[in-house]
Amino acid sequence: MKTDIPGDFVGTEEEFLSVRGCYSDDNNYYSMYLGIEEIDEKKRQAQVKSVKQNVRIGRGSIVYGTVETVTDKMAQVSLFHPDTDHKVIYFPNYRGILRIADADQKFVENMRDLFVTGDIIKAKVERVEPDAMIITTKYPEYGVIKAFCSKCRQPLYKSKGKLMCLKCGNLEDRKISTEYLLGA
Ligand SMILES: [Zn+2]
Repeated sequence: MKTDIPGDFVGTEEEFLSVRGCYSDDNNYYSMYLGIEEIDEKKRQAQVKSVKQNVRIGRGSIVYGTVETVTDKMAQVSLFHPDTDHKVIYFPNYRGILRIADADQKFVENMRDLFVTGDIIKAKVERVEPDAMIITTKYPEYGVIKAFCSKCRQPLYKSKGKLMCLKCGNLEDRKISTEYLLGA
């Protein structure tokens, strides 16, 4: 079983006779949801089941987001969250703010060593402010769950505590979640 985010490649039309929770494009199937991918090879079926969570988010909620900007001391994240009708809700009015002190359990000198624009992260809400959610990635399960090569934009694979590009061999550092989606 693997976790998908919307747009993740699930398989090809040749591989599967039926799919759920996927859309097709150019003979390929992609996930519609943030969810769990289930493959039945015998029946040639694929399904992505949405991760159901309470939509009311507040202190302690788990959120996902895309890193928009990173400065030396903080990152701004656009947050999304799966709702119970199997859709992904974006929170346009809520920026996620991740401060350097909330980024990791160990001391961090510069936020840019841990996060890069375009990274997909998993985080927990620490506090809700009028126009922002203060989030944390301090614990092992939080942090980057998917990232892309800064040289060639291919998805990076987790390998020996680093992220590696299988195409160009580039190695990159992040605050990697234990739930990082791709392993080499
Ligand atoms: Zn690369």
